[in-house]
Amino acid sequence: MPMYTGLARVARTTGYPVVEVKNWKGRGHGKMRGCKTIVPHHTVGPTTGNYPSLRVVRDGHSTLPGPLSQLGIGRDGTIYVIGAGVAYHAGKVRKTAYSNPYAIGIEAENTGVGEPWPHAQLDSYVKLCRALIDEFKLPVGAVLGHKEICAPVGRKIDPAFIEPQMTMAEFRGYVRRGYYSAPVADVKPAGTTKPKPKPARKAWPAAALPVTGGHTTASHAAWVKLLADVGYKDKSLTTAMQRWLRGLGYYKGIIEADRGQAPVFGPMLVTALQRFLRAKGFYSRAYRIDAKRGTATVKGEIRYINSQTKHYK
Ligand SMILES: [Zn+2]
Repeated sequence: MPMYTGLARVARTTGYPVVEVKNWKGRGHGKMRGCKTIVPHHTVGPTTGNYPSLRVVRDGHSTLPGPLSQLGIGRDGTIYVIGAGVAYHAGKVRKTAYSNPYAIGIEAENTGVGEPWPHAQLDSYVKLCRALIDEFKLPVGAVLGHKEICAPVGRKIDPAFIEPQMTMAEFRGYVRRGYYSAPVADVKPAGTTKPKPKPARKAWPAAALPVTGGHTTASHAAWVKLLADVGYKDKSLTTAMQRWLRGLGYYKGIIEADRGQAPVFGPMLVTALQRFLRAKGFYSRAYRIDAKRGTATVKGEIRYINSQTKHYK
């Protein structure tokens, strides 16, 4: 049975840099008996460097001789091809198909305790798994994390995708698709978030205007609507109000707009408005007809406007 001397070729199809570790084609604890499982791991190695675990993965340690996996992935996505025969990565497993003679191991550099996985490394990881299942004609379900194949279950936690958080099922989802992309929450380019819909402001007369001593955009709009609805549609509210109050017999001044002049909300118009409001009961005798459009006048206007909602129901 084979030494998998095609692994470097397979790794190159990912598009990521491939490092062929010296003598990799002859490295292994004997020949593979087949390839039924692809097993991702994390190294639990040093926190710095691109692939500081290379020596351990290649040579092993005091109690376990290397190679400890056929493939490795550095933090920048570089793929290290370390062995072509059996590697000691799986340990005790739940099925023969998961055991070292049938399983290719990938040791990706990560401390396993929350170190964020770089995007390139995850993408390389996904693409390498995809390339391997394509090479060995395996289903996506043959990609099984060490934590999934180990016996007893719970003996291993790798690979731990903590940041970004990812389950093995999600990892296999990316393998099925063929590339990794960060979860939406991690990539939020400016300008692509939907603007919050503004709460619909109910226009008069759907909602009564607050009675305040000053006019607002809403009260202005209400006046415009009210006058337009009784036939006074002008470019300027002042002009419309002059025409309206003249029609009712209150306004005796000029209408500037008819003379090509800018409309003026002058004393004669305010006086007419105050008289009108008083006649309708919205400007009491406590206030003088003083030709000044002060707080009492504006409050009277708004109360009058609100009283007109009766015509809109
Ligand atoms: Zn492992």
